[in-house]
Amino acid sequence: MLEIRSLSAGYGTLTALDAVSARLEPGGRLGVFGHNGAGKTTLLRCIVGAHAAHAGEVVFDGKPVLPGNVPATIRRGIAFVPQGHNVFPNLTVADNLATAGLLFDGKFAGEVLKIFPLLEERRGQRACSLSGGEQQMLALGMALMTQPKWLLLDEPSTGLAPVIVRNVMSQLAKVNAAFGTGLIIVEQNVPATLKVVEHGLILKSGRTVFSGEAATLAAKPDLWEWF
Ligand code: ATP
Repeated sequence: MLEIRSLSAGYGTLTALDAVSARLEPGGRLGVFGHNGAGKTTLLRCIVGAHAAHAGEVVFDGKPVLPGNVPATIRRGIAFVPQGHNVFPNLTVADNLATAGLLFDGKFAGEVLKIFPLLEERRGQRACSLSGGEQQMLALGMALMTQPKWLLLDEPSTGLAPVIVRNVMSQLAKVNAAFGTGLIIVEQNVPATLKVVEHGLILKSGRTVFSGEAATLAAKPDLWEWF
């Protein structure tokens, strides 16, 4: 269980998150939406312990996530893929995966390569020579090397062509189904994300303006009124 309990956070005097709550069952899938500056990245950074909340807490499997020790959070089973291509450009695909899994069971690479056969094909190729979509797939594979219970993704579709976005989203669905990994996806591409997630959270100036079923959002033609 991952619980976000009335989380408030900011930077100096600026409030970026204001009493945001969510309760996620293991293997759950949440999409977090909102305009630029709504507080989405701040929420992910608080969940992984990269940013300290002013108030409230994140409780994972009954224990709080303590800020300031991201490696400890990752070891507990929460992985974070920040925005951008988070790969070592000069290492091969195989070495990127091995590096990401250094402190974990290296045998898991086999499982990751089964989910992403393309990475197997490219295993000897340097990461910088992969396309944007392939690099995103590698970043995802690297996060999975830590065998997370939860995978937090900050705008995984950024800079990708629509067909590749669909591909990334279907890979995320596959990961969720194969390993039971819970997903928290921050995205600007709401329609593509709603195909994968079961719950949606819309933030506006750090506050929750919608929290509920993804199907409710998908069925709402004037969805943008909430933004
Ligand atoms: P985007 O979609 O543009 O990535 P976001 O919804 O992820 O936006 P955040 O990055 O969480 O929003 O930012 C929330 C607010 O906090 C914004 O007003 C932003 O300018 C501010 N902010 C974010 N990081 C910092 C920082 N390191 N120092 C000061 N202010 C920050």
